[in-house]
Amino acid sequence: MTTIVPPKERVCERCGRSDVWDDDTGTWTVVTDDEGERLTGDPFCLHEWDINGTYNPLEGGA
Ligand SMILES: [Zn+2]
Repeated sequence: MTTIVPPKERVCERCGRSDVWDDDTGTWTVVTDDEGERLTGDPFCLHEWDINGTYNPLEGGA
């Protein structure tokens, strides 16, 4: 039996944007660094998440 564990964090391979999963809101939240600066990356980036291809929430669901 395979258990799929959804990722809790993702990083854009293009611009370096970093998100973490917020279970409370059910959305991705932008990570902030030690100085409180949001690591939003390039706003025009198409974002190539490092989890692409390894996890698809649309597969294996209900
Ligand atoms: Zn990006």
